[in-house]
Amino acid sequence: MRSPLSLESEPIAGLATPHGTSALAIIRLSGTGLRECLLPLLRRPDGRPASLSDFTPRILKRMDLVETHEYGHKPLDKAMLVFFPAPHSYTGEDLIELHCHGSPVVIQHVLTHLTELGIRPAKPGEFTRRACLNGKMDLTQAEALISLINAASLRGAREALRQMEGSLSQRVFKIRERVLKILAQMEATLDFADEVTDPLLPRILLMELSGVSEQLGELLRTSTLGTHFHDGFQLLIAGRPNVGKSSLFNRLLGRQRAIVSPLPGTTRDCIDSRMEIQGISVLLIDTAGLRDTSEVIELEGIKLTKERLTQADGVLLVLDPQQGATEDDLDLLRLLPPEQVIAVWNKMDLFDGSHAALQGWQGLPTVTISCLTGEGLDALLTAIAGLFLPMPVDGEGAVIMAARQKNALAQAVRSLAECESMIVHNQPLEVATLPLRAALEALGEMVGQITHEALLDQIFGTFCIGK
Ligand code: GDP
Repeated sequence: MRSPLSLESEPIAGLATPHGTSALAIIRLSGTGLRECLLPLLRRPDGRPASLSDFTPRILKRMDLVETHEYGHKPLDKAMLVFFPAPHSYTGEDLIELHCHGSPVVIQHVLTHLTELGIRPAKPGEFTRRACLNGKMDLTQAEALISLINAASLRGAREALRQMEGSLSQRVFKIRERVLKILAQMEATLDFADEVTDPLLPRILLMELSGVSEQLGELLRTSTLGTHFHDGFQLLIAGRPNVGKSSLFNRLLGRQRAIVSPLPGTTRDCIDSRMEIQGISVLLIDTAGLRDTSEVIELEGIKLTKERLTQADGVLLVLDPQQGATEDDLDLLRLLPPEQVIAVWNKMDLFDGSHAALQGWQGLPTVTISCLTGEGLDALLTAIAGLFLPMPVDGEGAVIMAARQKNALAQAVRSLAECESMIVHNQPLEVATLPLRAALEALGEMVGQITHEALLDQIFGTFCIGK
């Protein structure tokens, strides 16, 4: 569906690949009359000027790029050109890609020359904006594209890819349809106000509204996961001094990053490093060991650790099986929400006691490892992934990733609650339709659609006009 919003379609050009030296660089161009504007830049490989018949749709063609002046032309680059005619292109307009050599000097020169030919530089996001306005994708899909490009983890990228296929929009559309039906029911009652209204109607409406609110609430809750897909999870390694926190940090990273020492209290600062665990982006943080001390720098480190503990999404509480859990360990555990903690018994290579006694310590997920031999590390990685993603995100479960989507959803939830409260307090249905319309608008805004037209269709669709 084409948006009624005004659409600029003048030819634009932009570099689609990163700035800097590279093997290849792609200049993307889009707009009406693009081919005519571009002709002076193009020569066939045999030296003859290019013509409109050279723009064969979706076939990559060799072309020379030249700078044309009244006294002749100078070569700029040997390129490949591909033409996607409207409307079957990314933007829905005529779109051309020029695959050039990745010389920053040449690229800059070509872009400047394009301006002289009447093709202006594209503004940030302008190709995608045009794609949205031409109905090639909706706003959630455009945002998913941004999430895909900026994904901090493979899991985040996969989710973004699913949203580009419209999984989130479909889910919002389904919910919006339910809201439209409720509104249609209310509107129908208003239009036939002289007839006796079903006395059960308010109860029916409330039931339907609460069903929709539940679905929206569920979707809204996924935004926490969405933020993590984008920014990654913070995983803190905590425990008493010398239990092997820095060793575990290095083991998980696969390199020596933190200093490992038999002297207790070596790590006084928090050291962090980003890594990927089973497709999830994790910021791994090694901390100062927590113990009673009067040493000033160590105390400062302990203070910092406690601060970071409150921000962490997960904690690996490292324990020494030879010493068993101590009062210090229990003190530390009291600072943490148990659902965020994995108990990690390290130095199992030195332990000859009963393993069974270690399992399920304090009711926590428990893993036994040795940083020296590497034993148990795979199980630990699986436990970490399980901690962050307790439920697999399946086909139905779209995840909210953009702040704008979250705000629009939250607005819809608030408006629905307002509508429910009005019905509960026996306010006139006419008044109660207002927040419902606001909810629809918020949902429409979320997927970038205008709702009014759809509302009319819905009302007349459920309504017997011959009555
Ligand atoms: P932190 O103070 O908790 O960060 O502990 P470190 O990582 O600095 O380790 C303290 C000492 O324990 C060092 O001498 C390590 O080599 C040793 N260590 C760490 N993990 C293991 C393990 O799994 N087995 C054995 N035998 N020694 C370990």
